[in-house]
Amino acid sequence: MRITGVELIPIRLPLVEPFIISYGTFPDVESVLVRLETDDGTTGWGEGTPDPHVTGETFGGVLETLRLLAPTLLGRDPLDRTALISDLDRRISGNPTAKAAIDIALHDLVGRATGLPVWALLGGRSRTHLTISRVVSMKTPSEMAADAVAHVGAGFNTVKLKIGDANDVALDIRRVAAVREAVGPDIAIKIDVNQGWRTPGIAIQGARGVAPYLPAYVEQPVDWRDLEGLAEVRRMAGVPIMADEAIHDAHDALRAVSLRACDLINIKLMKSGGLLGSLTLNAIAETAGYTCQVGTMVESSIASAAGLHLALALANVHTVEMGGPLMLAEDIGGLSDYYAGEMVRVPAGPGLGIEPNERAIERFAGQRIWIH
Ligand code: MG
Repeated sequence: MRITGVELIPIRLPLVEPFIISYGTFPDVESVLVRLETDDGTTGWGEGTPDPHVTGETFGGVLETLRLLAPTLLGRDPLDRTALISDLDRRISGNPTAKAAIDIALHDLVGRATGLPVWALLGGRSRTHLTISRVVSMKTPSEMAADAVAHVGAGFNTVKLKIGDANDVALDIRRVAAVREAVGPDIAIKIDVNQGWRTPGIAIQGARGVAPYLPAYVEQPVDWRDLEGLAEVRRMAGVPIMADEAIHDAHDALRAVSLRACDLINIKLMKSGGLLGSLTLNAIAETAGYTCQVGTMVESSIASAAGLHLALALANVHTVEMGGPLMLAEDIGGLSDYYAGEMVRVPAGPGLGIEPNERAIERFAGQRIWIH
């Protein structure tokens, strides 16, 4: 089997409501789909969803990087996927989101060709199903409490609060307090600061302030570059600390482990360059005794399915946040059918187990690029 064509499809998908976090408001999701074609007619789908605040990659940049990387795939056997991924790294450094799109497409392709679901390619199942949390955008305390109550009413036992205002940490603490009061003691609350508290001094104040409301963890309180600062917060805060923006790949994880910079690591395919990079990252975390989460940039069905397969395969993954399909007003892959309240079934068919809908893609696609 040889790869004979690579199609790049930029899409823009509307969200149910704007997604608001410490560093921005996002009305829709911009993503680049990759469709690989082979000489025996098998296809594989991937997706790269950039977050310029996290990896520095933009929508247009991911498309251009993929255009430059695609010729490396032509004529190659997708079963050589580890060699192929290494070749991409030799050709262009960094750019993990663009590479994740190719990595996911290669896994989908190999899964379809062999009849195996992606989780089987990653080592097999560690559990039978997954549960996810719902995210609450950064708003006023009462609005966030109302959103959290709505999610609990829809069957979620965990909510994730987006906060992070270095100029008003007291307001952040009131946000968490209002949600805890509204949802009661039995609902798990996760907190994501998205670097918003900036420095360790403010972050320690914030983390101690929210500690009485018993968060499961406080995620990425300080600037992503400051691993030493994150370690300081971890020692002083009295709540578990998760690293997100600070840890993209296995190299970052190794440094974080050596500094004991956090308790938990948020793995995202778009940071680690895809599934293979995530396996390496998780191996370091697991060996060091850190548990992981599989998170998302708010991705469509394709990358979200890949994240679900990864989470299903890794016993060291304790929390999952692949809620993208629930946040999209329109999707292109039908993955939302696999969600029921907080329970998610992972598609059981070959590859990612979903079939992207060409008619839906056509509605949201920009100019397609076909390389063959
Ligand atoms: Mg995060």
